[in-house]
Amino acid sequence: MPASKKSRKPSYTPAQYVEGILRGDRIMLARAMTLVESRKPEHQALAAEIIDRCLPHSGQSLRLAVTGTPGAGKSTFIEAFGLQLIEKGHKVAVLAIDPSSHLSGGSILGDKTRMQQLASDLRAFIRPSPAGTKLGGVAPNTRELIFLCEAAGYDRILVETVGVGQSETVVHSMTDFFLLLLIPGAGDELQGMKRGIVEMADLIAINKADGQRLKAAQQAQKEYQRALHLFPPKPSHWTPKVLIISALHKRGIDELLQLIEVFKAQMEKSGFLRQNRQKQAVYWLHERIDTALRNYLQQQPEFKKRMLKAEEKVAAGTWSSLQGSLYLLEALIKRN
Ligand code: GDP
Repeated sequence: MPASKKSRKPSYTPAQYVEGILRGDRIMLARAMTLVESRKPEHQALAAEIIDRCLPHSGQSLRLAVTGTPGAGKSTFIEAFGLQLIEKGHKVAVLAIDPSSHLSGGSILGDKTRMQQLASDLRAFIRPSPAGTKLGGVAPNTRELIFLCEAAGYDRILVETVGVGQSETVVHSMTDFFLLLLIPGAGDELQGMKRGIVEMADLIAINKADGQRLKAAQQAQKEYQRALHLFPPKPSHWTPKVLIISALHKRGIDELLQLIEVFKAQMEKSGFLRQNRQKQAVYWLHERIDTALRNYLQQQPEFKKRMLKAEEKVAAGTWSSLQGSLYLLEALIKRN
């Protein structure tokens, strides 16, 4: 029962949220996610408590990043792949790109049909990222959403993202496996501009390997296989693979799924999966502290005053950025 009946939306205690999530209640899961995404301090405090209570029940999933430029076929792929996972007995959560976001490049028609079949299956849970997410579908708190999904029993979590580099780095720091979807013909541009993203990939899937594009896809597969050899070995010692698939015709999906399971088994055996997650947790602690400190400082009148002055001086070229930062730090050190 809701703790308060007066407010328009019922409010629950953290214990009620957690109990609902652990029971697999999708509405409670969605509500808790909204709290995690909220900027209101009272929501954040509640969210933090829910997350902490869910943490002991999280961690059992495989966290997969699915990235690729708009039109690469991410949603078509996620639908085909997700349905296959479900068939194998998994519960699938998708933290998806909000189709209304301009970054996704989604058309109105495309939006309506996005992952319809998967969305209507009770063994899948699809959560679009809030509108206006700058990082193409992923945000620092996406990591917390992953924990909540895990506590609700989802054991394969797909985080969809699109961007030009920054969003991929963020999603890479919160997932176990990085899947890059490419389409034949876009190779040259990607080799140069998105080298860093290719380097992060555990698996490159050349999509749309059907009809007239099949030959080009096979060619791209060879090229990327060659290109991957030039990168230094990964800390995981996993050798990245290049597959050709057709998400539309559901070809190559099974092979891809098997490869991911091989990855999981290998990484569990070597201990990399656990070590990597520990590293990610510490990384995010530092990120959070950086953000919290900056927010705190920006609310201090003395600091704000000095910041304005430093910005002015640095813009005018009177001070170096080093000088400006020392001036700001002085305000803090003096106080202690
Ligand atoms: P997203 O923007 O990356 O999510 O891409 P979509 O999944 O919306 O796909 C963009 C377009 O490519 C749609 O018209 C799809 O039907 C089409 N598409 C996706 N996968 C394939 C494929 O394997 N083969 C072909 N021929 N078309 C595909």
